[in-house]
Amino acid sequence: MQKQKKSTKGLTIEKENFSEWYSQVIEKAEITDIRNNLKGFIVIRPWGAMILENMYALYEKEMKARGHKPSFFPTLIPEKNFKKEASHVEGFSPNVFWLEKVKGEDKLALRPTSETSMYEMYSIWIRSWRDLPLKMYQRANVFRLETKATRPLIRAREFMWIEGHDCFETEKQAHKQVQEDIKITEKVLHQQFCVPSLPFKRPNWDHFPGSVYSIGSDVMMPDGKLLQQPSTHFLGQNFSKSFNIKFKNKEGKEEYVWQTCYGPAPSRMLASVIALHGDDKGLVLPFSIAPVQIVIIPIYGKDDKNKMIKESTKIKDTLEAEGIGVEIDDREKRPGEKYYEWELKGVPFRLEVGEKELKAKKLTLFTRDTGTKEKIPLASLSKIKKLGETYDKRLLTKANNFIKGKIVNCTTKAEVSKTLKEGKIARVNFCSIEKEGTKCADIVEREMIAEVRGTLANKEEKPSGKCPFCKEKAKVIAYIGKSY
Ligand SMILES: [Zn+2]
Repeated sequence: MQKQKKSTKGLTIEKENFSEWYSQVIEKAEITDIRNNLKGFIVIRPWGAMILENMYALYEKEMKARGHKPSFFPTLIPEKNFKKEASHVEGFSPNVFWLEKVKGEDKLALRPTSETSMYEMYSIWIRSWRDLPLKMYQRANVFRLETKATRPLIRAREFMWIEGHDCFETEKQAHKQVQEDIKITEKVLHQQFCVPSLPFKRPNWDHFPGSVYSIGSDVMMPDGKLLQQPSTHFLGQNFSKSFNIKFKNKEGKEEYVWQTCYGPAPSRMLASVIALHGDDKGLVLPFSIAPVQIVIIPIYGKDDKNKMIKESTKIKDTLEAEGIGVEIDDREKRPGEKYYEWELKGVPFRLEVGEKELKAKKLTLFTRDTGTKEKIPLASLSKIKKLGETYDKRLLTKANNFIKGKIVNCTTKAEVSKTLKEGKIARVNFCSIEKEGTKCADIVEREMIAEVRGTLANKEEKPSGKCPFCKEKAKVIAYIGKSY
């Protein structure tokens, strides 16, 4: 039974009913409008778009700081390109949207990912070791024909993406890039969006088509299910051989480049931000990505409206000079109604500006995550930026605490089953994440409706027992969870 809240104005469902809460919050906070009736494709409304723009900006800033250059490639990929790398085409083909063929022209695919579009050009651009490393990314929407049930931002047929594609002289440099990609995820998704994730080296039966190995970072959602966030792939020379991406090394000999690719999806990361930080009142946005970091509500009667708006504008100017995102809400609505709307939209701070406050030279500051009110002297408004940093630290700590205790060591099948039912991750000694482990993975999938997510990619862990499923000596420590 769903627990219904009495108020019908805002959210009518509490967060403990996560699935319904999520559907409601993305509508009421004006992230999306599900009345766009096209399975797997969503409309992002201005509030959602402004958050996403901030997420893109922070992510791309970090990509650039680590040597990646931006680019844009076509949305359409000719079939002959798409089919060049055998395992890539095999893996992706069932999920490709094909365009109806135009007479006399190549058959075209809507890109599900852009290796086969970009690498054709890489083979032209790369000639010598002097052209390497080549590190590029593009901001791109990609399209995948999902047959499973879709959910706004979580699983879609079109999603918003950043894809990085790098080429190196040596294998070692490419492995190092994979580790750097994990660090980018940690720095942006965790430190800036306040969303913790676990990087797992995926089992061999579950890696990116065309790659040698894949690392996917999983975020635990409030319902205990894992959502894959940025993944990074070591492509080896699979694509460089298919696309003939060669360079002359320092000895003048021709070699194939070593490649990696990396794919953070801002739209899906937004789903985790909403899910992890939101509460019964709506969204709680990190200060780092909130389109409005502080909203000013002028409180006035019939006579002093202009004066209050004028004073509010002065305050806005002061805050903007500090680089803070501010909005004055001077709509003809009751203050209470405005408070309520901005809380639903997750704005971190609210400043109430009335006659009383101005006289005392102290304004009322409301903080969204704690729900507390305090007085802040007019003279110390510049402090908001610092308060914003503290605010994000609180969100980060809260999200980190949510993960604590969610990983349980299990030695028997029954323990794994129980752990998964409790919405946690089972950590087990596991026979293998190579092909020979598929039998045990099948048991996990069929009997527990869960998945072997892989082995930790940023830490070496030594197994010390038997696989709970086949009783063989374990080769790895693997993590099992339910996923979206
Ligand atoms: Zn086994």
